[in-house]
Amino acid sequence: MNAQKLSKRLEMVASFVPTGAVVADIGSDHAYLPCYLVHKGIASRAVAGEVVKGPFESAVRQVRTEGLTNKITVRMADGLAAVEETDQIDTVTIAGMGGPLIVSILEKHPQALKSVTRLILQPNIHAKAIREWALLNRWALQDEVILEEDGKVYEVLVLQRGQMELTQAEILLGPKLIATKSPVFVEKWSREVANWQRVQQAIEKAEKTADNEAKFTELAQLVEMVQEVIQ
Ligand code: SAM
Repeated sequence: MNAQKLSKRLEMVASFVPTGAVVADIGSDHAYLPCYLVHKGIASRAVAGEVVKGPFESAVRQVRTEGLTNKITVRMADGLAAVEETDQIDTVTIAGMGGPLIVSILEKHPQALKSVTRLILQPNIHAKAIREWALLNRWALQDEVILEEDGKVYEVLVLQRGQMELTQAEILLGPKLIATKSPVFVEKWSREVANWQRVQQAIEKAEKTADNEAKFTELAQLVEMVQEVIQ
């Protein structure tokens, strides 16, 4: 992967960035995504934010090597603290982290989202946390994609401002992903169901405590909910 050729995962994130967007890529690491977006003429300007020194320095180097210092500003900052009001960012991308970490980044500096109309979030795990945050904070899912790369499954969630209503199953699995029910989606959730059933079997063999019984019931509800969707 480099700034010209992204991974399939980051290419999917890039595909949802509107032409002419002013992008903040948070947790940018090597800054491949913002460099790609500007090179392709998709983003007009970008901010690359990184909290860790090593990846920050690698982002600075990458932007220099690509000759993009006039279009991409690299800032070392915690999450959305990388965004300044004068940047007038309209699109935020956060990729390659867990859902709860992405949510904590969105929650820590909410004022940085003032000018933002689109969030493109790519959680490696626990996308549910993002859907819960979106419901509470008046963001609506515009699109969702699930993909597999190098044996790992990733989700990309595209949010715009607005309200939505989701069932418990939709919060966990994703309303658009349920509607599409792609083979990757069915395989991912079949694996989850099998894992939960294995834990249930272990609980059945273990001591009968209130905690174990509560866990068993919780898993039984999850299994039923997911099986209803994928079968
Ligand atoms: N976004 C790139 C991608 O998807 O390939 C890099 C993903 S990398 C696994 C996660 C990056 O996020 C790391 O470079 C890490 O230092 C950075 N990161 C984690 N928490 C952060 C935060 N609160 N603010 C900014 N960057 C953060």
